[in-house]
Amino acid sequence: MLFRLGDFYETFGEDAERSAPLLGITLTSRELGKGHRVPMAGVPYHAFESYVGKLLKAGLRVALCDQVEDAVAARGLVRREVVRVLTPGTVVEDAYLEGGGTNYAVAVCLRSHNHGIAALDCSTGELALLRVEPSDDALRDELARLRPAELVASEADRPRLHSLAGATPISWVDPQDFDARAAVDRLLTLLGVETLAAFGCDEWPEALAAAQALLQHAERSHLRLEPGLLRLHAEHPRAFMHLDPPTRRSLGLAPDRSASTDDLTGLIVRDATTAMGARQLRRWLDQPLRSRERLEERLARVGVLVDDPLLRGQLQAALRGLPDLERIAARTGQGLATPRDLLALLKGLQAVPGIKTLADRRPELASPPRPPALGEMQSALESALVEEVPATFRDGGVFRSGFDAELDGIRSGSRTARDWIGALEQGERQRTGIRSLKVGFNQVFGYYIEISHANREAIPPEYVRKQTLVNGERYITPELKENETLVLNARSAMVAREQALFSELCRRITAAGKDLLDTAAWLGELDATAALAAVATRHRWVRPSLRDEPGIEIIGGRHPLVEVALGPGRFVANDLRLNPDCALVLLSGPNMAGKSTYLRQAGMIVVLAQAGSFVPAERAIIGLCDRIFTRVGAHDELARGLSTFMVEMVETAQILAHATPRSLLIFDEVGRGTSTYDGVSIAQAILEYLHDAPRLRSLTLFATHYHELTALAQTLPRLRNFRMEVREEGARVIFLHQVVEGGADRSYGIHVAELAGLPRQVVLRARQVLSDLEGQRPLERPEASAQLSLPLDHPVVAELKQLDLERLSPREALEKLFAWQGQHAAH
Ligand code: ADP
Repeated sequence: MLFRLGDFYETFGEDAERSAPLLGITLTSRELGKGHRVPMAGVPYHAFESYVGKLLKAGLRVALCDQVEDAVAARGLVRREVVRVLTPGTVVEDAYLEGGGTNYAVAVCLRSHNHGIAALDCSTGELALLRVEPSDDALRDELARLRPAELVASEADRPRLHSLAGATPISWVDPQDFDARAAVDRLLTLLGVETLAAFGCDEWPEALAAAQALLQHAERSHLRLEPGLLRLHAEHPRAFMHLDPPTRRSLGLAPDRSASTDDLTGLIVRDATTAMGARQLRRWLDQPLRSRERLEERLARVGVLVDDPLLRGQLQAALRGLPDLERIAARTGQGLATPRDLLALLKGLQAVPGIKTLADRRPELASPPRPPALGEMQSALESALVEEVPATFRDGGVFRSGFDAELDGIRSGSRTARDWIGALEQGERQRTGIRSLKVGFNQVFGYYIEISHANREAIPPEYVRKQTLVNGERYITPELKENETLVLNARSAMVAREQALFSELCRRITAAGKDLLDTAAWLGELDATAALAAVATRHRWVRPSLRDEPGIEIIGGRHPLVEVALGPGRFVANDLRLNPDCALVLLSGPNMAGKSTYLRQAGMIVVLAQAGSFVPAERAIIGLCDRIFTRVGAHDELARGLSTFMVEMVETAQILAHATPRSLLIFDEVGRGTSTYDGVSIAQAILEYLHDAPRLRSLTLFATHYHELTALAQTLPRLRNFRMEVREEGARVIFLHQVVEGGADRSYGIHVAELAGLPRQVVLRARQVLSDLEGQRPLERPEASAQLSLPLDHPVVAELKQLDLERLSPREALEKLFAWQGQHAAH
């Protein structure tokens, strides 16, 4: 609770103890009552937003308790009231939000048939209702996508939700708040409709119940829910591709709220020219579609702007710098808009007709529904606002003269008095002959006439002395006070009138809020489309062909991020074919050969295609996927040991439980976090299961450096072997990054050891040992079973297998080698 005390917001007691370290401010104390000291910490009023922002980031809720009567008039204790409650998920000010991102408060309703989710971004008015299957996993996946700033949940669900929520702050509310029937009534009023049927959520009691709890919570946070400023949409789980958090992470879908340049989201969002466009792109990427029809529409629109770079450039230039109309609409609705917000809105509205004209050049761009005209709102703002509005209302001056007769009257009424005071100094100097006479103003006495002691003799008799200073004295005259009253009254009357006019203007804008939001949505889509076209052109991406039947065919596919990182001409493009007859691709090859790059690029191409984007390939045919799963084995985490392996297995179990024939499965080195024998066995068992389980038959990419697994192709007809091509030049191995048919026959582990900087001596010796070992083993290709069971019973081999190479220091390796050589010589 922040109490306004003069120029500060103060916190007391526990609040002070908690917030002082968070805000980096000093904790003091103050005596309240006899001998009773209370901890206290305060922040300056003029900068409170940055402090409140920190408290919200820490997951706290902040109540602002302001002085609600004039401090001078009250003459004693000033009445204070909570005027605002700020929570991480219900703020609308730019100071607390990231541009171009979403900020959801999310309510979840756990029921046995389905879980319901309601997500409200009150900074844009978006209200999404979802229904998900009643599993913790499904819930966790959706929450990971929404990245809520705040959760609202029933007290009754506390034990279950606690673990699901992670670090997100939760407001626990009464189970009674989850009331589907009340939600329907409220939504009908808010949306101004007769039925919710058109939204497709009227049969979703769990989601509606969540909506009710969420809206109640928003109201308790003093949020105004205005008709027209809420846009409801129901999200049918089947309409979207399902992605779980590890998959999102490995496909580079913004791991956190701010995308960086080395994830897929960042690569694309960078080309948006407006916050609305950036938000739209994130939504598209976060929720790839499964409907071919809708995707073809998006792709066609992107295609238009790829083919017409001139128009794209013109559109992007016209869109650039447009204000965030969604957020301005939200602030206007909350009564928190500033004069500058409305000026920005006006500038935005003035740009819209030009953008529409540009878009009209291509009929494909004008749809979906061309936004309504906002001419009336624009002319209202044009006639109201001055060219350069002040940041605040303190001194008025927001409205044009000629806009409001009353305001003009107040202004001109005070003008005579202001002119009189303005001329006073000059006039009195002449009349009294005192050259140093000054007219000034201060908060305590108002206007005064100041005369130095030296001129005391010449002071006119009607001057009334008010204050004595070191060098002189301050006087007033009755006439000066009369004019002063006129000026000051006029000023407060003017500010009051301007405030009333401003509220009225905001009310008119809010009344047309739906049209404003529709326009903002249209602009956001246009901007997002232009951004996708720009990315496609810059990186030579192509339009994918979409199919309803499962199957993926990529010719000349590239990894969008690695390609950019390597620079022009250095990335080696690769093909991929996956279909029901060739459903499993087993990709073998040494470490560092490019296996994960190839796997991820396939996943990214599919996500891009289903987000409605062009894709990094020469040609791509994509059968729409219902889910992508990626699992990356314990690559960099070997040292973390068994627990990582456990996670890997738990996640694999999930895939096997949820995948369908329409899913794309990507396994990168799964089974690696354990010993070689275990790893190979688990990998083989998983592959066999994926191949044979009739319910699965999912398209699968499986990368491994266990070349022993390649023998599986002999028994699994739908499995194909591919390998990352390497060329050997003498003892050196060169990675070609080319995927070719056939399995790898060796591991090249020693080569990787060399790359890692093991001493030359060790590498040479290892080669020698290897060739000795191979000399004892028949070189012809052994049978599959023989290869998998590694029938080398030499004790050195057994020992070699036992070695933990990740932990072995070069010195220990060398000592081992010497030891073996010693034993060998002895034999
Ligand atoms: P692996 O998974 O086989 O260990 P990575 O996929 O991590 O190998 O690739 C290792 C490095 O090789 C990458 O960081 C990248 O620089 C390079 N690379 C991978 N694929 C290609 C490619 N197709 N063309 C060019 N360089 C590539």
